[in-house]
Amino acid sequence: MPDREPAPRGPIRTCVGCRRRRSPDELVRIVAAATTLVIGRNAAGRGAWLCRDDPGCFALAVRRRAFPRALRRPVADAEVEVLGRLLFAPAEQDVRDYGAACAADAGARHQTMKG
Ligand SMILES: [Zn+2]
Repeated sequence: MPDREPAPRGPIRTCVGCRRRRSPDELVRIVAAATTLVIGRNAAGRGAWLCRDDPGCFALAVRRRAFPRALRRPVADAEVEVLGRLLFAPAEQDVRDYGAACAADAGARHQTMKG
């Protein structure tokens, strides 16, 4: 049997930031919950995908207002901010921003996200 063109294996998703098509393993899935954006492969609802390894994609997605479009609902700036922290809040950075973040998050429950 001759070799066929290598077909992409498994599902392919498009990053809403850079529009690259990649395997879901290389992306994170953002889902619109009632009043927040959450990160979860298996969370219920419409998802938007972002490159896991590129903070620039998040910035791009914000600039293009890709989240409201992909998630099919209005997305408040505050939600985007919180999401940005969930995605890319490295331990080194949180000291300075921690107070402000807590103030901004008042009301929102602090969640620990793994993976
Ligand atoms: Zn991307």
